[in-house]
Amino acid sequence: LFVPDDLRAGAGLAPAPDQARYLIQVMRLGIGDAIAVFNGRDGEWRAVLTEVARRGCRLTLESQLRTQAAGPDLELVMALVKRGPLETVIEKAAELGAGRVRLVATRRTNADKANLPRLTAIAIEAAEQTGRLDVPEIAAPEKLDRLLDGWDPARRLLWCDESGAAPAALGALADGGPWAILIGPEGGFAPEEAQRLRALPFVVPVSLGPRILRADTAAIAAMTLWQAKLGD
Ligand code: SAM
Repeated sequence: LFVPDDLRAGAGLAPAPDQARYLIQVMRLGIGDAIAVFNGRDGEWRAVLTEVARRGCRLTLESQLRTQAAGPDLELVMALVKRGPLETVIEKAAELGAGRVRLVATRRTNADKANLPRLTAIAIEAAEQTGRLDVPEIAAPEKLDRLLDGWDPARRLLWCDESGAAPAALGALADGGPWAILIGPEGGFAPEEAQRLRALPFVVPVSLGPRILRADTAAIAAMTLWQAKLGD
């Protein structure tokens, strides 16, 4: 269970109402039952249910189960695609080890904003399910040009390029990172965007195969390759 509180032995926790409902009604926990909680900073702790009331419950922290390890160092730069596919990508990014998802508006994206609270809730739920000790940060949408202008060139940008001209992604991931993965929108990148990307020294254009993948499929495929080759 993800909680915002500081975690230390003996501390009491009052989960949010929806979390309390989940513990009592879905997980059917009773007094004395234990669950694992994390906050993204203090590792994972064993918490025992010590109180059940009509409107909530209380947990008492007992002992640390896992110390906080640095989260994976992969960034996903994802074009603002339709809501359903975008929510799928956020969930899979949490499962596949992205440390941060940066949403980007390009010439051919329809939206330039996203429902960050909802996407963050999806990331938290996926982090809880997958057993991470951190939750990937979902960064607010920014324009591709601004993102590239401010890019840290020490981080290589694996540009998933469906044009057929790029080498296979697996080979490109052979050497170290840190890495970021760039996925375009349903309509692809505009010619002038592709031209700029091709000219940037930190950009590594790669192919994910001979077929055109949906943007969410491409994101999952690219993150899976990273996880398989370099992931932690
Ligand atoms: N230009 C595509 C078309 O002609 O239909 C539309 C873009 S595709 C639906 C969305 C994004 O997924 C692309 O911008 C690219 O980042 C990624 N992608 C899809 N297929 C790919 C492939 N075979 N290799 C690399 N990237 C791919």
